[in-house]
Amino acid sequence: MSSTMRCFWVEKSESGEIRAEVTEKPCSVLDQAKSDAPRVRIRVNLSSLNYKDALAATGHPGIVRHFPHIPGIDAVGAVVHSDSSDFSVGEEVLVTGNDLGVGHFGAWAEMIDVPAEWVLPLPKTLSPLEAMTLGTAGFTAAQCVQALIAHEITPDRGSIVVTGATGGVASVSIEILRKLGYSITAVTGKQEHHQALLDRGVDQVVTRSDFIDQTKRPLLGGKYAGGVDTVGGSMLETVLRSTAYRGCVTACGLTGGADLNITVHPFILRGITLCGIDSAMCPLPKRKVIWEKLAGEWKLAGLESLATQVPLEQTPAWVQRILAGGVSGRVVVGL
Ligand code: NDP
Repeated sequence: MSSTMRCFWVEKSESGEIRAEVTEKPCSVLDQAKSDAPRVRIRVNLSSLNYKDALAATGHPGIVRHFPHIPGIDAVGAVVHSDSSDFSVGEEVLVTGNDLGVGHFGAWAEMIDVPAEWVLPLPKTLSPLEAMTLGTAGFTAAQCVQALIAHEITPDRGSIVVTGATGGVASVSIEILRKLGYSITAVTGKQEHHQALLDRGVDQVVTRSDFIDQTKRPLLGGKYAGGVDTVGGSMLETVLRSTAYRGCVTACGLTGGADLNITVHPFILRGITLCGIDSAMCPLPKRKVIWEKLAGEWKLAGLESLATQVPLEQTPAWVQRILAGGVSGRVVVGL
């Protein structure tokens, strides 16, 4: 086994300048993370690009807690060493979220070393490429759909509005919702993707600027039974004000802003539920249930068609692209 690994290395100079590059580092850098908890060392085969990875790759202080840093919140690979009897050498495993690629060296590296409790066996029905096409985005999408179902938003209740529709979380949400028979309204800023969204089975596409309501009216027409919002800000405000009686809206993202300026009217007059979604710290039992769903009942045919595969060396350009809102579907990173 090589004593070095290729990785995306992010450093901060004394003057505060962030420097990032794909480079070779000794695998011993991973030893710094050693603790008493049983650990698993994994030869990473594939990772993915999430919005959060792009923030980490640029040293965003809201994500990166220590420098130097390696981004990459998703990994699929083979075990090369395990302190835990739950995993054997050569076994294909999956790691998403937890502190991977945030407070801990991430998976944009040929090797990761993580607590055993973060590791799941790769479900037998998912290929490594399918698992990374899903990744944290797919896991988050599944949590959003599950939340709608838990709030009794069934397909007969009406359309579900999905915002940031060409993005990673939204793309997988659309696929799962469609599989379950929901009618979908997609909101996108990408005019050129309207037809592709319709081809994917979306019932209606609305342009972002037409959708976001500029009036300060506390309630708008209750058009949607529910919403999967990946954008936040004025987008989420509009979704909440446009949701019908006893609807449910999930909120997971902030690509459009972190503020939320609304009145309580959607909640107290329409009984709307705003359901927050967190994937990073999702407890293990729930994490297992969600992955079982993604690998079983909700398994998506042709999932790989959502993915663009890129080598680690091309990630710097893709980081800039996703930060500019220019990525559609999922980006899988090859190590
Ligand atoms: P992507 O970049 O793949 O998708 C985000 C989409 O949002 C874009 O494709 C674009 O879609 C839209 N968008 C981008 N910029 C803007 C803007 N300025 N205003 C309005 N819309 C915009 O990101 P992900 O799918 O990976 O993540 C989506 C969000 O969810 C991120 O904020 C991410 O941090 C968050 N997230 C949170 C998780 C959690 O645990 N809570 C887990 C995973 C993700 P379009 O062009 O179609 O409008």
